[in-house]
Amino acid sequence: MAAELIDGKAFAAKVRGKVAEHVARLKEEHDITPGLAVVLVGEDPASQVYVRSKGKQTVEVGMNSYEHKLDVDTSEADLLALIDQLNNDPAVHGILVQLPLPKHLDEDLVINSIAPEKDVDGFHISNVGLLGTGQKSMVPCTPLGCLMMLRDYHGSLSGMDAVVIGRSNIVGKPMAQLLLGDSCTVTIAHSRTKDLPDVVRRADIVVAAVGRPEMVPGDWIKEGATVIDVGINRVERDGKNKLVGDVDFASASERAGAITPVPGGVGPMTIACLLANTVTACCRANKLAEPEGLTA
Ligand code: NDP
Repeated sequence: MAAELIDGKAFAAKVRGKVAEHVARLKEEHDITPGLAVVLVGEDPASQVYVRSKGKQTVEVGMNSYEHKLDVDTSEADLLALIDQLNNDPAVHGILVQLPLPKHLDEDLVINSIAPEKDVDGFHISNVGLLGTGQKSMVPCTPLGCLMMLRDYHGSLSGMDAVVIGRSNIVGKPMAQLLLGDSCTVTIAHSRTKDLPDVVRRADIVVAAVGRPEMVPGDWIKEGATVIDVGINRVERDGKNKLVGDVDFASASERAGAITPVPGGVGPMTIACLLANTVTACCRANKLAEPEGLTA
């Protein structure tokens, strides 16, 4: 295997370490403990696992975790009332509403009711606009994690050709904005892109965020390119349940210069960046210096 492995698990541990250090300093010097509120509506098993994991890691870095579990048939008015209460609670610096929400709730309305400065997922329309115009914002966690790993590996990304496959609001679009912000020449590919292999072959950086198991084969990858695989796909292999990315890891590793594995690549960075965003939000709320290297 030629490619260097970008170890997201180890990198996420480093990010959590930095967050924990900053939290300790906030407590010691300012008597402030950052707090993250997570709201879960319903009992979707995957969402329950994510919420548990977020709560556990929040406490491990020394922050306060507030979990709000609501019935699946909670009304929009009740959910909005809870968000309003959290918006006005000075102990809460970050608010995350776990998606997807049950069908009867309007996701856009709910997300846009979170105070933008507490929107640690970075999905509020104000944060989308701030990111798009290069202003200080809360940055969506998964693309932020990808950017941190790319910066760590390359130093400067300036002038590199980057292709982002996928144009979702939570991964593809903000990822492209972040790469543009770091002066890459960015192409966003999607399901209607003509000749995707040719587009990908030109890229120094490939970020795959599609949700199709191993759809990017090694022979699409330019020799020496850096491959960031966001995809999380469950497949059956040899009678076993396995997680694979959007990139065919075995063949892509033969050509890439560096590559993230699945699992153990982008995945662990997402919650680490949620914690990073919460400590950043807390510093901004208290007009204190932000930790370095934990935001875009
Ligand atoms: P979406 O389904 O919202 O978006 C998928 C994107 O892929 C769309 O823009 C779609 O194009 C594009 N696409 C679909 N098929 C093709 C194709 N054949 N060729 C090129 N583009 C295609 O997914 P998300 O962005 O939410 O997630 C993407 C993946 O990342 C999933 O596997 C998800 O599980 C994973 N993920 C991982 C996270 C982590 O923490 N590591 C966090 C979030 C997501 P079009 O717009 O034209 O339909």
